[in-house]
Formats: sequence, C-alpha cells, structure tokens
Amino acid sequence: MILPPATLGMLGGGQLGRFFVMAAHEMGYQVVVLDPDTNSPAGKIADRHLCAAYDDQDALNVLAETCAAVTTEFENVPADTLAYLAKFVPVRPGAEAVAICQNRMKEKGFLKANGLPHGPYAEIHKEEDLKTCDGALFPAILKVARFGYDGKGQARVVNREEAIVAFQGFKHEACVLEAMLPLDYEVSVVLARSASGEIKYFPVAENQHTRGILDVSIVPARASGCMMGDAQEVAATVAAKMNYIGTLGVEFFVTRGQLVVNEMAPRPHNSGHYTLDACVTDQYEQQVRALCDLPLGDASAHSAAVMVNILGDIWFLDDSHHAKEPDWAKLYAVPNLKLHLYGKHHARPGRKMGHFTVIGNDAAEVQATALAARSAIGIRD
Ligand code: ADP
Ligand code: MG
Repeated sequence: MILPPATLGMLGGGQLGRFFVMAAHEMGYQVVVLDPDTNSPAGKIADRHLCAAYDDQDALNVLAETCAAVTTEFENVPADTLAYLAKFVPVRPGAEAVAICQNRMKEKGFLKANGLPHGPYAEIHKEEDLKTCDGALFPAILKVARFGYDGKGQARVVNREEAIVAFQGFKHEACVLEAMLPLDYEVSVVLARSASGEIKYFPVAENQHTRGILDVSIVPARASGCMMGDAQEVAATVAAKMNYIGTLGVEFFVTRGQLVVNEMAPRPHNSGHYTLDACVTDQYEQQVRALCDLPLGDASAHSAAVMVNILGDIWFLDDSHHAKEPDWAKLYAVPNLKLHLYGKHHARPGRKMGHFTVIGNDAAEVQATALAARSAIGIRD
C-alpha cells in the first residue's frame, strides 16, 4: 500500500487531472503533474508542475525518481512513456490498456477478439478500403483512429464518395468507418478495478450528446435494471481482459434494444463527474485508491443527480469575438446545485470549461431543476 504523504505522478493536466489532484490532496498525498501547457488546470494546483512534453526524458526521470506511482488522465499519452515509467514505479493503468483505448482500430479489434458487443465497422488504411468495404455500413461515421475527441476527427458520410472526400480531409490517416446506428439512448459505466481484481461500479449514467459532445448525464439512467446489469458486466469483462487497474469509463450505445460498446476511456470519465457530488466515493478518489493499492471505496450514490457540461460557447452569447463571463450568480441561486469551474484561461466554443451537478432525492425534480439552470445560464440545445 502506498500511504500519505507519498507523492503521486499524473500524466496530463486537464480537468480530470485537476480533480485527481484535489482528491489526492484531501487524502494526504502530494502530486506531480506532467503537462506541456503552462496553464494546465491540474498543473496550476499540483505540488509540482513539470511543464514538458509527454516524452521529455528529463521530466520522465523526475517522475520516476520522485513518485511512488504514476497514473494518467489523458489517453493520448504515448504508450512508450507509460512503458518507460513502469520500469521504475507502478503505472496504473498500464501501457497496454492505454494503447488499446487510444486507438479506435485497436479498441474495436479488442472488442471483437473478446466477443464483446460492438457495432459494424471497417478498418480504413487507404482509399481503396472505402471502395471495397461493405456498402451496408452507409450511412456511416468516419473516425480517425487516433487523437480524436469531443466529436473532432469525425465525419458523417452517406456514401462511399463522401467517405473518400472525408478521408482525404483527414490526410489519409488510418480511420475506422462505423455504421451510423439508430440510438435508443446512450449509457456509460464508470468502474474502478484494483490490483487484486476487485471491481466497484458507480451507478450507470444516461448520456445525452449535443453536436458530438457530452451535454447532460442523468443518474439513475432511465434504462431497465437488466440493461444496466448487462452494461456493468460487459464493462467488467473489458477491465479484466485488459488487466486494468484504476478508474475506467466504458461508453455504450443502446440500439434497437441491444447494448453495444462505443468506446473506452482509460481514466475517469466526463459522465462520472456526478460522482463528486452524489456518491460516497467519487471516481477520482477511487483512482487514487486503485493507484495506491488501498481498498476501493463505497461507490454507491446517496442522491439522484443530473450533470450538465459547461462549454465555452456560453462566453460568446452576445458577441462572437469577445468573451464575456457567464452570470454564475444564476447557478449559485440554486441551493442543490454544485458548480465546478476548471480554471481554464481562455474560453472557446466547444471547450469544456466546467460543469454543474444538481442533486436531490426526486429524480424528476432534479432533472427539471438541472434543465432550467442549463437554459438560465444560456446553454442551447
Ligand atoms: P468522442 O471520442 O468524441 O467521444 P464518440 O465516438 O464517442 O467520440 O462519438 C461521440 C458521439 O457521437 C457519441 O456519443 C454518439 O452520440 C455519436 N456517435 C458516434 N458514433 C456513432 C455511431 N456509430 N452511430 C450513432 N451515433 C454515433
Ligand atoms: Mg465518446
């Protein structure tokens, strides 16, 4: 067991890393963050911010020398970085699991190889693959295999011709072509898995996306108990097959009543932000616990919750060129609403700037309050 006041390493300095730092600090640990951005949300509050690239040898050596264990908040950390650090300290999740989750092609291959449910897709390496792939995949979504996020690196295409144009737009980078599925709804499972293989699930969230970015998460999800149990079981298999240690997010589509895995995130997940305010243990504390080999905490929820993402768009409601701070007083007026802002210096449309969670006993009331607050602050459908 790694106990306080040990120092923990965090690869990535975004909001997920920031919440990890907060959890670790509350628990008595110190944190070193590696992120190339001088103003990274986690780097600003860490005990030490190594402002360097993810493959900077000197920075990696500092992590290896000063940290008792290292984790990540960002799936695009080079797998070589994780493998290098693992020679000196425990790295959780490990390089192999991250390598699968950071590449859509590997991810789909992993699901297929393990008999886990996934949608129809084709691997696209060259234009020819778009001419010969199964025509039944259209209408489809072409997604770059690496470095896509929040709907970036994705194109919706109705036929082969459009797909070829999109592929050219992506500079012939390796892609997956996914059949566009009719979605009943989307859910996610966030779980934590310890080194001993113990798993604790957070309650399943129902996720609503707007323009390809998570907008609202609702807990409990409006799905049957059976569907949620199946989703948790699939997520547990994903974690076990990857020998995963840490907090894992698994996104699902429910299409024509069937569950399929959309993608996995080797880190806490945006749809698990609600655990900060509605669960006995949140997903970040659970990440610390798994990293340090502490027993996992109770992941149950004490409240119903609705989480709303705050994107940079609402800084530009009046004027598309000049950012204006949203009127936070409108949110602070709601007594059962918890606002979290990430301390990012510049707002941009589509950039995740913060979120809020409404909690309470009555799921319908919580939802109504959250949606009213969402429109009061200017978030549009
Ligand atoms: P990201 O990495 O940006 O989260 P996703 O692959 O999860 O990318 O896509 C974002 C959202 O776009 C999904 O949550 C879903 O709403 C929609 N989407 C993605 N792929 C499909 C698909 N094959 N069929 C239908 N909707 C999809
Ligand atoms: Mg996604």
